[in-house]
Amino acid sequence: MTEPEAGSDVRSMRTFARRDGSDFVIDGTKHFISHADIADFVILFAATGEEETRRGRRKTLTCFLVDKGTPGFTVHAGYRSVSHRGYRNCILTFDDCRVSAFHVLGKVDGGLELMNQWLFATRLTVAAMCVGRARRVFDLALDWAAKRRQFGEPIGRFQGTGFKLADMITEIDAADWLTLHAAWLVDRGLPAERPIAQAKLFASEMLARVTDHVVQIYGGMGLMEEASIERHWRDARVERIWEGTSEIQRHIIARSLLRPLGG
Ligand SMILES: Cc1cc2nc3c(=O)[nH]c(=O)nc-3n(C[C@H](O)[C@H](O)[C@H](O)COP(=O)(O)OP(=O)(O)OC[C@H]3O[C@@H](n4cnc5c(N)ncnc54)[C@H](O)[C@@H]3O)c2cc1C
Repeated sequence: MTEPEAGSDVRSMRTFARRDGSDFVIDGTKHFISHADIADFVILFAATGEEETRRGRRKTLTCFLVDKGTPGFTVHAGYRSVSHRGYRNCILTFDDCRVSAFHVLGKVDGGLELMNQWLFATRLTVAAMCVGRARRVFDLALDWAAKRRQFGEPIGRFQGTGFKLADMITEIDAADWLTLHAAWLVDRGLPAERPIAQAKLFASEMLARVTDHVVQIYGGMGLMEEASIERHWRDARVERIWEGTSEIQRHIIARSLLRPLGG
């Protein structure tokens, strides 16, 4: 999906797939593409036309499966992220890359609906991962607060630490319930766009607050690579950005509240 000039606004993408007989010829660049260096194929979204929308004329998208080794398709090394260091991202270029109509996933011009279906699932996964990682790092902080002694007492006995523990577990449980509720709706085939956005938003922001508190509870050791806390803190940062930023989740939530009222 993502391009240097088109992140949150995916419909502004420049990668274009032009019809040529029964084939499509693709030109454009993608970046931040996770694991493309080890993938045998990529799932590519490209513009294939335009349509009239509430926001004026916007591009229609089509989804393609493009095999590695297809002439014109090249995978380049990407950037080095501080979050998830073991998780490589790549730059993809498509230069007169020809694929047959057989490589279209779903319908021509139906890519946006497909993208949204997948983003629902991956946003829920992000929320669940945030809850799991927050519980892990919370357990580490709890153990540390019970055992680390200063001024002759475990630091957990100081109100400044104990209240942090109380706030953290409350937020973790709240994020867990939001996530389970959204998953419950999905399992039953019920509308879940807003609950999923709420779960992704709250869980990813909760993880940021929790990992920051945990660094504080660990003190200086929280920033040392030897203690693993700094990794949780760094890894938490990306969760508010990928699969739709926190701001985009807020747009989805606000839109779902206002649209039924004509707003
Ligand atoms: C490690 C990593 C791996 C990734 N892997 C993939 C991948 O495999 N495939 C893929 O397609 N993408 C991938 N991405 C891209 C990711 O989905 C995008 O970074 C994300 O969608 C945001 O786009 P952007 O970075 O271009 O930021 P932008 O869209 O430029 O946003 C910049 C800022 O502006 C804000 N903003 C933008 N529009 C609005 C608005 N309307 N209202 C309010 N605020 C707004 C954003 O919330 C953000 O704070 C990955 C990113 C990272 C960091």
